[in-house]
Amino acid sequence: MINIVLFGPPGSGKGTQAQNLIEKFNLKQISTGDLFRYNIKNDTDLGRLAKSYIDKGDLVPDQVTTDMLTDEVKRNADANGFIFDGYPRTVNQTEALEQIVQEVLNSKISLCLSLVVEDEILVGRLLKRGETSGRTDDSNEEIIRNRIKEYYAKTAEVAELYKQHGIYVEVNGVGAIEEISEKLFAEVEKIK
Ligand code: ADP
Repeated sequence: MINIVLFGPPGSGKGTQAQNLIEKFNLKQISTGDLFRYNIKNDTDLGRLAKSYIDKGDLVPDQVTTDMLTDEVKRNADANGFIFDGYPRTVNQTEALEQIVQEVLNSKISLCLSLVVEDEILVGRLLKRGETSGRTDDSNEEIIRNRIKEYYAKTAEVAELYKQHGIYVEVNGVGAIEEISEKLFAEVEKIK
C-alpha cells in the first residue's frame, strides 16, 4: 500500500497534482478542503462550523478535522493506497494521521511530497483562482495572506517531522503541470 502526503502552501497545486497522481497510481485522494466545501454546500453542522474558520483563512480546529478525515479513511479502507491532500496541517494532525493509518489500514505513510512555490506566486495564483472558483477564501488578498501566514505558523513544522522520518521530498511547484507531475511520479516510483 502506498500512502502519500501531498504537502505545500495554499495555491501550490496540491489538488491538481493529486488528480494526476491518483490516476497514475490508482490511489484514493482525500482532500480535507474538498470535504469541508462539500459540507458547506450541503449546509451541515460541520459545514457551518468549518465555514466560520475558512472564511477568515484560519485553520479549522484539529479535532473536528481529524474526526472527518478518520471517517473518510474508514469508508475507503479497501483502497490501494491514499493521497492525503491538505492534511496534516499541524503537528497534532501529523501524529493523528500516523495512528489512523496504522490502526485502520495497518500501514504507514510512505512519502511526503512537498510542492515548493514562493509566496508572491501563490498570492497571484489564488487571486486568479478566486475570479472563477467562487471560493470565499480566494476572494481577497488579506484572507489569502492570512492562509499563507497560518501555513508558516502551524503547517511548515509538519515538514520537519517528515524530514526526521526520512520520507520528505521537495519538488519545485513552478513550471508546466505535466512536468511537475513527472517529477512527482519519479519520486513515487522510487519507493514502489
Ligand atoms: P488551500 O490549500 O488551497 O488553502 P484547501 O482546500 O486545502 O485549500 O483548504 C481550504 C481551507 O480549509 C483551509 O484554509 C482551512 O481553513 C481548511 N482546512 C483544510 N484542511 C485543513 C486541515 N487539515 N486542518 C485545518 N483546517 C483545514
